[in-house]
Amino acid sequence: MTIHDYLAFVKQRNAHEPEFLQAVDEVIQSVIPVLDRHAEYRKLRLFERMTEPERLISFRVNWMDDQGQVQVNRGYRVQMNSAIGPYKGGLRFHPSVTQSVLKFLAFEQVFKNALTGVPMGGGKGGSDFDPKGKSENEVMRFCHAFMGELARHIDHRTDVPAGDIGVGGREIGYLFGAYKKIKNEFTGVLTGKGIGWGGSLIRTEATGYGLIYFAENMMQHAGSSLKGKVCLVSGSGNVSQYAIEKIIHLGGKAVTASDSNGFIYDESGITAEKLEFLKDLKNNRRGRIKEYADKFKGSVYKDIDAKSDHNPLWALKADCAFPCATQNEVNEKDCKNLVKNGVKLLAEGANMPTTPEGINVLIDNGVMYAPGKASNAGGVATSGLEMTQNYMGNNWTREQVDEKLHGIMKSIHEISLAAAKEYGKPGNYMVGANIAGFVKVAKAMQAQGVI
Ligand code: NDP
Repeated sequence: MTIHDYLAFVKQRNAHEPEFLQAVDEVIQSVIPVLDRHAEYRKLRLFERMTEPERLISFRVNWMDDQGQVQVNRGYRVQMNSAIGPYKGGLRFHPSVTQSVLKFLAFEQVFKNALTGVPMGGGKGGSDFDPKGKSENEVMRFCHAFMGELARHIDHRTDVPAGDIGVGGREIGYLFGAYKKIKNEFTGVLTGKGIGWGGSLIRTEATGYGLIYFAENMMQHAGSSLKGKVCLVSGSGNVSQYAIEKIIHLGGKAVTASDSNGFIYDESGITAEKLEFLKDLKNNRRGRIKEYADKFKGSVYKDIDAKSDHNPLWALKADCAFPCATQNEVNEKDCKNLVKNGVKLLAEGANMPTTPEGINVLIDNGVMYAPGKASNAGGVATSGLEMTQNYMGNNWTREQVDEKLHGIMKSIHEISLAAAKEYGKPGNYMVGANIAGFVKVAKAMQAQGVI
């Protein structure tokens, strides 16, 4: 079978799922040389099997808003692949959530989790519920209703969800409370829990910190470092906040942050003090990014026009770019602007934020490019460490977890480079990460037979 045949097979079965097809396309392009070398993988139809979720649950979520009106949302859990461990992957609450979006995320998650070296399969879930603009009580009622159904399908040894867009510490708390009540047991069935009730130190910071550790590994591999580098960051949620924090720790300068309305440009750099304001704005007051520019003189705010053919955030002069908001937020034109303005590295904090055409522009122009499944794996890796601590019944210190996170990101960097080299694409992190993740899952599926 050629790449075309594989894609035709997946397309025919998932015709109306563009995000899922996009994610599958990227992986098959990378792993076809592996299938050429391993006839047994083809015979066992491992790639085809990996594109079919082991189980896909879709359910109704009824809840009552503050006006006493009944609201109806749709919930999902995609249990994609459990060859190397229990399903693991976040829950996303956002109006853009569809089956296609969650299948792409679950598919990516399978390979990402394999790269971490922690034994975790891949899954993803969520709802089209929008927590933005909802009261505290509405968010709580929704979370309780959502878990009322999800609890039947998960368990700490079967499927362990975490947070993602729209699901942070607050939502994990409500979801965990409902699970505990329904099952009458206290287990590590969710990660991202609060410190003091089963959470791991550094889990909140892990995706952003891990991203910047990975980027520092890339820079060092190229004989440089992040010190003194000007960095563009998108988003202002969990991943962005801690990416900015770690850029500051390593002596770089983060000059942007954004939300779905617009972005701020602070040419003098977001300092630790300004970052505290941003965290409070987004995590406690749940305000808009514009307030940053109102507060700090010298910074400017610009609206983002979703209909424009490019995002002006990516047209600013910088050395490095870290998209940390959402899928397909960096397109071909944005990548041309990045290249024109001298960007040397783009590492993805978000999942699939760069379009395929954009990735080609980066790679063709020699920009070091790290795909999210490698560079943002620190979050799920630390979720894996939270699971281990829950099983053992004890807690590691901040330093212990941070050291493990460092080691995992270094290892992902090394195995991605090694796989890329082995298959004739030295320095291509995308190909390397896809191959290394795929081979690990393929070997496990082969060993377990046709099941
Ligand atoms: P948050 O909900 O904390 O923050 C998301 C940020 O992105 C917000 O600033 C939000 O703006 C913005 N955003 C969301 N959707 C859009 C959109 N359609 N257009 C423009 N901006 C948007 O989420 P996270 O930081 O947790 O997640 C960000 C990305 O990182 C996602 O792709 C996620 O899958 C990925 N990721 C997250 C991990 C984690 O541990 N949390 C782990 C690995 C990857 P607004 O406030 O206006 O909604």
